[in-house]
Parts: sequence; C-alpha cells; structure tokens
Amino acid sequence: MSKPLVVITGASSGIGAATAQAFSAAGHPLLLLSRRLDRMEQFGLPETLCIGVDVTDTAAVKAAIEQAETQYGPVGCLVNNAGVMLLGQVDVQDPAEWQTMLNVNVMGVLNGIHAVLAGMKQRGAGTIVNISSVAGRKTFPDHAAYCATKFAVHALTENIREEVSGTGVRLAVIAPGVVETELLSHTTDEGIKAGYQEWKQDIGGAIGPEVVADAIMFAYNQPPNVCIREIVLAPTSQQA
Ligand code: NDP
Repeated sequence: MSKPLVVITGASSGIGAATAQAFSAAGHPLLLLSRRLDRMEQFGLPETLCIGVDVTDTAAVKAAIEQAETQYGPVGCLVNNAGVMLLGQVDVQDPAEWQTMLNVNVMGVLNGIHAVLAGMKQRGAGTIVNISSVAGRKTFPDHAAYCATKFAVHALTENIREEVSGTGVRLAVIAPGVVETELLSHTTDEGIKAGYQEWKQDIGGAIGPEVVADAIMFAYNQPPNVCIREIVLAPTSQQA
C-alpha cells in the first residue's frame, strides 16, 4: 500500500531539501513547494510533484496541494518549513524586510495550514509540522522582527493543536538552533552577517539540516495517538 502524501514548503534548499530526501527515502510521495522550481526538480526524487509557488500566495498554495492530492491522495503530513531571516536593528532596518518575514514566516505557515486542515479534520488524521526556531522561544540581538515571526509560529501551532486535539489531527513545532543552510545569506546587513558567522565558528559550527529532518521524521512516525508537541535541538555548544 502506498504511503500518504507529504507536502514540504521551502524544499529547494537547507532543511526543506533534507526533509524531502528523508520522506522520499521512507517511501512517501511528495509535493515540493518553493519559488526555485529547477532546484527541486534537480533532486530527481521518485513520485514527486514539484511546483514553483510563493507561500504568501494563498490561492496558489491551495491549488498546488489540490493538484498533488488528485495525483497521490490526501495529504498525510504538511511540513511548513519555508522561511526567511533578515536580521537587523529596527531603528535602521528597511520596514520592507519586516513585511517580507511576516508574510513568508507567518502568513505562509497559515496558508499551508488553511489548505490542509479542513480535509485532515474530516478524515480524522494528519500531521502538521511547523518549523520555528530557538528564536521562537527566546530573544537574540538583531533578531527582533525575526523573533516576532517565530514566536508567532510557536503560538499559532500550539493554539491550533489545542483546537483540533479531539479530531485526530496532530501539530508539532520543531525549534532548531543554528543549522548550516542558506538562511543567513539573505540578511542585507553585512556587519550583522559577519558577526553571526564569527559566532557560528566560535561554537564549532552549526548542525546539519539532515539532523532537523530526522527530528521531523521522529515526530511524524509516532503512533497516531502520540503528538510530539515540540522538539528543540541545537549544537551542544550553542549556549543561548
Ligand atoms: P534556506 O534559506 O536554505 O531555505 C529556505 C527555504 O524557504 C528555501 O527553500 C526557499 O526557497 C524557501 N522560501 C523562502 N521564501 C519563500 C517564499 N516566499 N515562498 C516559497 N518558499 C520560500 O534556510 P533553512 O533551510 O535554514 O530554513 C528553513 C526553515 O528553518 C526556515 O523557516 C527557518 O526560519 C528555519 N530555521 C533555520 C535555522 C538555521 O539556522 N538555518 C534555525 C532555526 C530555524 P525559494 O527561495 O526557492 O523560494
């Protein structure tokens, strides 16, 4: 019997790409979503539909998931992973950067949930894994707007988990510390970027995205009556 469809947003690099490899190796059909379609297609994963979608586009996210469900059946798991981190100090940072982070990190996650939750509730089964951050639990210098978006991911995940706990649908939040990906590269403040790289080196480097993918798989693979509510994981030497 074929395994349930897994939808992964932000699958073109980093944690999303590693998660796509992990679920594919476990035999799941996949829907991969991000803006860089070529990157996702290059993985060459079997039983995988890749669609170039901006997660801030509510209708496009819904349409892509409907298309995948027609091909592979109902979504068993949604991994809301797409995100951007534009670090800065709010007195000097371009407000457009806050808006981008709010749109992708918060609206994007809500768009994904909106597209799958009604069906999951109806079927009485399904798992939604939202990727937050240690920056969704505590503050860091230069992270104010990013932390605001990740605290929001923690809050909305727990809120919806409580609301649907009687329906068979599970919500989990995964909160990584520093992971070796492209995430920092989009920050426009070169001084902040250099400081972050230095700190990463000082603590002996980041963890690999496949470690986070393993944590996501662990949450998903629990029996249906077990909900992993939160996993926090970081390099051992990351103090904060
Ligand atoms: P990457 O930059 O490597 O990956 C981010 C992914 O999000 C890319 O696939 C990118 O695809 C996608 N994305 C960005 N904007 C959009 C958009 N508007 N629509 C669709 N997809 C989008 O970074 P990570 O793998 O590190 O990031 C994944 C998640 O992990 C993020 O939510 C991040 O906040 C979180 N995280 C990362 C940590 C780290 O240290 N790396 C630590 C804690 C949490 P594309 O550009 O092709 O659209």
